[in-house]
Amino acid sequence: MTKRGNQPDATVKERFMRRAIELAYAGMEGGHGGPFGAVVVRDGEVVGEGHNRVLSTNDPTAHAEVTAIRDASARLGRFDLADCEIYVNGVPCPMCMAAVYWSRIRKLYYASRAGQQEPQPPSRKVRFHAVADRNDPSLAQHPGGAITSPVSRSNAQIPA
Ligand SMILES: [Zn+2]
Repeated sequence: MTKRGNQPDATVKERFMRRAIELAYAGMEGGHGGPFGAVVVRDGEVVGEGHNRVLSTNDPTAHAEVTAIRDASARLGRFDLADCEIYVNGVPCPMCMAAVYWSRIRKLYYASRAGQQEPQPPSRKVRFHAVADRNDPSLAQHPGGAITSPVSRSNAQIPA
């Protein structure tokens, strides 16, 4: 495969992140919960999807990451998702970070705004980063790429 830097890989990652954003929109517009979506990917294929369902299920743990992990585990018939990655359109909360850890997902990509101190208008540039690489105990953030997220809520105010 011809590569120019890591551009082809970044494009694939962007496709999954855009799907997470679509799920966030669908869930929010359906009144299911906050504007958060997540996609679990294995070998370049989506094996789990979810969005925030806290309102529609009255379940405070029904965050996007949790619902996507449950979907992937049900579809694959196993709890060990060590061969999977997860894409989320917001910064994961501590509960979801723990869910990612216990599912053994090897890599997490999340979208966040540069700075991210205050609510921002729609369609602004976001950056997403790869974190929680199980081989990297420092959990250092690595630049993953830049996409435009139409989801504008403050992650600090609405649980992921
Ligand atoms: Zn969460």
